[in-house]
Amino acid sequence: MKSLVPDEVHNVADRLARAYPYIKRRKEGEGVFSDTPLAGLVRAILSQNTNDRNRDAAFNALRAHFSDWAAVAAAPTEAVAEAIHPTNYAITKAGRIQAILRELQAERGEITLDFLRTRPTPEVLVYLQHFPGVGVKSASVVCLFTLGRPVVPVDTHVFRVTQRLGWIGDITPERAHSVLQEIIPPELVLPLHMGLWEHGRLTCRPVPHCAVCPIHAYCLFPGKTAPAPPVEEAIAYHAMREAR
Ligand code: SF4
Repeated sequence: MKSLVPDEVHNVADRLARAYPYIKRRKEGEGVFSDTPLAGLVRAILSQNTNDRNRDAAFNALRAHFSDWAAVAAAPTEAVAEAIHPTNYAITKAGRIQAILRELQAERGEITLDFLRTRPTPEVLVYLQHFPGVGVKSASVVCLFTLGRPVVPVDTHVFRVTQRLGWIGDITPERAHSVLQEIIPPELVLPLHMGLWEHGRLTCRPVPHCAVCPIHAYCLFPGKTAPAPPVEEAIAYHAMREAR
């Protein structure tokens, strides 16, 4: 892991926010900011090993097929799996979702995670991860998007980009959560997460498009595919994406 230059995190966040200005609007359109904590957790489970379009198709189908969470909990697992079939591993995820709903009903008397809104973030993270199939990434997604807590989710895109930037070194994705949590100021967690995610998804792919990379100057990756472009040209190239 390198020593960050002064303002590096702020500058990367600024460049990515200007390159991908549409991300927050897209996330709002997907409904991720307005989910209840329970809906956010279900959406996070559906997103595992699945792209966002199929995640949202599965989530919307689940809500359309069943009147409420109690109906999901009471249904045959195969019926839930059928409803969420756009997601991968539908039968496994259906069982895990039902186990969460049934546990909440049995132990709390109501199927909700709204009580987490007033709990401290470390407690929320531990509690969510006691459910089978819920790891630190899914728990962090619920904290960040539905509870508004500055917790850094590390998915495959965020992991790849921050590793190439030299921010996390040669560590596991699980360990990367705590390392990035130390590096990123709370006010930058949400915008930087969204920027790193979109950058990893579109530009810093396994074979990266370095010729249009706005954060090239901060990158240590030895496999860069092109020299650094002018920063403002790279930002403008991406910012036009929504209009193309
Ligand atoms: S220079 Fe290339 S490898 Fe480095 S962050 Fe940019 S796209 Fe990724």
